Amino acid sequence: MEYRAYGNTGLRLSLLGFGCMRLPMKDEHVIEDEAIRMLRYAIDHGVNYIDTAFFYCNHESEIVVGRALKDGYRQKVTLSTKNPVHEPDGRKWRQTLDEQLRKLDVERIDVYHFHGIGWDEWNEKFIVPGGPADEMRRAQKEGIVTHCAFSFHDKPENLIKLVDTGFFEGVLLQYNLLDRANEAGIAHAHEKGLGVVVMGPVGGGRLAAPSDGIRKLIPGPVQSSAEAALRFVMGNPGVTVALSGMSTMEQVKENLATAETAGVLSESDRAQIAKNLDEVKALSDLYCTGCNYCMPCPHGIDIPRNFELMNYYRVWGLKDYAKERYARLKERKVEDNIVEAWAAACTQCGECEPKCPQNIPIPKQMKEVAATLGT
Ligand code: SF4
Ligand code: SF4
Repeated sequence: MEYRAYGNTGLRLSLLGFGCMRLPMKDEHVIEDEAIRMLRYAIDHGVNYIDTAFFYCNHESEIVVGRALKDGYRQKVTLSTKNPVHEPDGRKWRQTLDEQLRKLDVERIDVYHFHGIGWDEWNEKFIVPGGPADEMRRAQKEGIVTHCAFSFHDKPENLIKLVDTGFFEGVLLQYNLLDRANEAGIAHAHEKGLGVVVMGPVGGGRLAAPSDGIRKLIPGPVQSSAEAALRFVMGNPGVTVALSGMSTMEQVKENLATAETAGVLSESDRAQIAKNLDEVKALSDLYCTGCNYCMPCPHGIDIPRNFELMNYYRVWGLKDYAKERYARLKERKVEDNIVEAWAAACTQCGECEPKCPQNIPIPKQMKEVAATLGT
């Protein structure tokens, strides 16, 4: 396992990080024994960065992570979590931090994130007197938070602005084969001495679907599209850690095997991949991460699923598959009712659009999905 410097913090982190947003679940609860077994296996095999957040896994992720870190495991890892409070009054932010320390049952969080901030919000809600930014500094002085970071879903140009505030030591952001919008921001953050952790290296699972097109993008013997996607992210020298949200022991083992042999790709390999990707991407300017923030649609449309199918169609040429699956969305059983979840039933009400962190013009693109996949 390769270890890379997390910016100027002095931390050295494993190239593969354990994202704890998709721990194994049953009946809405984390399967604790299995999750602990997976986490400890990963740590025993070199993973030293564990990432969780207040809301993950129905609020249970932090509790289970805390239990996994008993028996001497806490000292082996850099523990990261995120504060979801977006309010100018810092007291609630601090209460949440205190609750997270209790849930995790630790005295200190190593890398603490403002969860999902954007540039405007940062200025309006976070750096006000007595606000979350002041509380972050206070927590650092008290020694209950070591390093300050942010996770990011805003426009790429605002990533640069946030990095340039000089407030943060690290950033957590989206980056993968299908979404390279933050590539310049990653290089900038790296140059400015921030650690860079990537979430969604396999595109929320989409890049895990078998595709020779994806697999062949990466030079060398690559077994699967998920492996290609991870190798692509790990091959970027500006990236410190590629987080993978692992749900099964099999995934843990596969990702460990990939990380074992992954490393910075040569400049010529990266240039060739970028060229291949630009050619593929030119077919589509549509990209949805499947984050679900736009849901629920009041009219029953399954927005991320419609976009997912459109990506299969346009980006990877899986046309028949996409159309067949789209037709199935015409009738979906929700409790005792049948609703139309396909794009054709979109009323263009516009309620979803402001909720999308990717700034996708959803109603307009719903029309395009219906026209393309419904024929
Ligand atoms: S614009 Fe369409 S997809 Fe968006 S909320 Fe309205 S009906 Fe749903
Ligand atoms: S359309 Fe936007 S908000 Fe909705 S799932 Fe996709 S990325 Fe998320």
